[in-house]
Amino acid sequence: HLSKRLQAVADLVPDNARLADIGSDHAYLPAALLLADKIKYAVAGEVAKGPFENEKAEINKLQMQDCLIPRLADGLDAIENDDHIDTVVIAGMGGSLIEEILDRGQDKLAGVKHLILQPNIGEYRLRKWLMEHHFQIMHEELLADEGHRYEIILAEPSICPVRYNQRELLFGPLLLEHQGPLFDAKWQSEAGRLEQALTQMAKAQSQDTQRKEQLQAKLNLIKGVIGNDH
Ligand code: SAM
Repeated sequence: HLSKRLQAVADLVPDNARLADIGSDHAYLPAALLLADKIKYAVAGEVAKGPFENEKAEINKLQMQDCLIPRLADGLDAIENDDHIDTVVIAGMGGSLIEEILDRGQDKLAGVKHLILQPNIGEYRLRKWLMEHHFQIMHEELLADEGHRYEIILAEPSICPVRYNQRELLFGPLLLEHQGPLFDAKWQSEAGRLEQALTQMAKAQSQDTQRKEQLQAKLNLIKGVIGNDH
């Protein structure tokens, strides 16, 4: 049984995908997809010994040794040519770590048709990396699970250049088009956080004008979007 967050990620995996789940921990996600007969083969990559042992225990318990392969490896090094991986999931990490993993493993992405990413934070930078590396965002979700808000991004390689503006990079090009209550709540609270930071800087008479301008520019972007129809 997957958490609401992981189930939402799993729902985006195409039928019969050859899946690599990077940073898989207990391998719950690929195991659930195999149990549901939605996929037939998966690699569960882990860089840390403890989570790697968790994976192996889960795989042995479910007797999935032939179709769910645990690999102790850093990032996309877990993927081997013979796996014929076409779908990569990286979930439950910061956006900058996901970006780093993608950036260092670019040679492993050649045959990959679907990237399913669930950054806990740092979505802007991740979208920017996707754009700069010719990945188009095909689907985005914002969901709440156990008191946290999560974004999920499905991206696919694009022949044509991909261009997103600052607003689209920050809010998500598709999330921007379907703003709902959760979207408002997320960005209201982010606006509050930025206002607080700016007040603190003013009080402390901070001379860091560059930082102030950055925060203010982000705040203005947010106000321009959530201020619209309210
Ligand atoms: N993907 C699962 C999920 O979404 O529930 C587990 C998320 S867990 C918070 C993050 C996992 O990523 C940890 O088990 C950690 O060891 C692993 N990890 C972090 N950096 C990694 C890397 N460079 N390569 C592979 N795994 C990594």
